[in-house]
Amino acid sequence: MKQYFLLWCLVFGQLCSSISYGAAEGNHSDLNIRCGQMIDGYSGEPLHDQLISIRQGLITNVELYNKATSEDDEILNLSAYTCLPGLIDTHTHITERADETSDLSIHYTRSMTEVREISAENALTTLHAGFTTVRNLGAYIAWSARDLRDRINAGEIVGPRIQTSGFYLTIPGGGGDLVIPGIPENTIPDRVRQGVSRGPDQFRENARKAVKGGADVLKILASGAVLAYGGIPGSPEMTPEEILAVVEVAHEAGIKVTAHAHGAQSIKDAILAGVDSIEHASLADEEAIQLAVKHQVAFSMDVYNGDYINAVAAIQGWPEEFLRKNIETTDAQREVFSTAFSAGVPIIYGTDSAVYPHGDNAKQFVIMVRQGMTPMDAIQAATSVAAKFIGWKDKVGAIKVGLYADIIAVKENPLNDVSALQDVSVVIKEGQIIKLPLSIEE
Ligand SMILES: [Zn+2]
Repeated sequence: MKQYFLLWCLVFGQLCSSISYGAAEGNHSDLNIRCGQMIDGYSGEPLHDQLISIRQGLITNVELYNKATSEDDEILNLSAYTCLPGLIDTHTHITERADETSDLSIHYTRSMTEVREISAENALTTLHAGFTTVRNLGAYIAWSARDLRDRINAGEIVGPRIQTSGFYLTIPGGGGDLVIPGIPENTIPDRVRQGVSRGPDQFRENARKAVKGGADVLKILASGAVLAYGGIPGSPEMTPEEILAVVEVAHEAGIKVTAHAHGAQSIKDAILAGVDSIEHASLADEEAIQLAVKHQVAFSMDVYNGDYINAVAAIQGWPEEFLRKNIETTDAQREVFSTAFSAGVPIIYGTDSAVYPHGDNAKQFVIMVRQGMTPMDAIQAATSVAAKFIGWKDKVGAIKVGLYADIIAVKENPLNDVSALQDVSVVIKEGQIIKLPLSIEE
């Protein structure tokens, strides 16, 4: 019976495993897994032939597999696989589609029903790619990711754990404002501009609205964006006082705040104002890097997506301005990545997905390794280090007793070739099997 459900799932590809397993087979959050190799997310070396016990969705024991003592238990045999903690992507836009960047005005008229369909599809794709936790850093339809988060948490649909920032906190015409050249501002619906603010008081007020609305994290646009009209990626948009106003609201509420910043000045302003992480950091200078080291502010650098933009933007008819700004930032960002990593800036895995398609999140690992990380460093950036900087180290990011049993497995050894993470065979979230090849018997 189990196999029929699984086949149905693989063929129809929807909401399958956990629902069919959950509903038809009872609670599957109790599970034992045997892993040929195990990367726990925080140790420097892998472990071999480990048995992971899961009860009520939590990891309750990890030990060397022993045939004699384990013989009575049903075991999911992944002895030919490498197990890792479920991956964390600290920068997604999970309610939006990559191929819509050519015409952002689509968000002016999009219905909530359609947003929900897109979101559910992206959520499943992301989870199947092995990303069991994502942080959504802004959506033009402001609370679409909160809606998705809440539906996943309620068990209505299947997707990763989500932290969401609600709307973009940005200046008028700034990197998170959805004004488009040639479209009169008075025709743009207010709902896509909820976080647009000027001056510390307005930023404070809107930051409070975001917290009150249920944001898990706040996202500010400290300097110009690549995929926005007007503005120069490096030039500061928010003033230090405006950044500080948002940081104070976030920290009062006990949540993190992250700054979108390409330029050196706005990176420094954001770090000195007390943000927890910087998105992009493309044009950081030596001083900004040293400041990040000193304050232990993480950089989340989307070092893969420049290649994707170069490959598809012209074909898909993206605005010329976006292409130009992409070229200005891609190589520069990769150099900064290498320098920042070797200087000791904490690096957290963030893809800016929706710039490129959901499900391709793992393509960045290869570039991170090419730019100087070991595969283990890159894996930790997407597991324990990411978990620490999103404030969830007691929940996810490691295969460790007491944490959620979010576990993935890959056939090839990612420590030999990190591109193995682009082909995740097994996905388990909170002890529930989400994805499993037919060749593995439970
Ligand atoms: Zn982004």
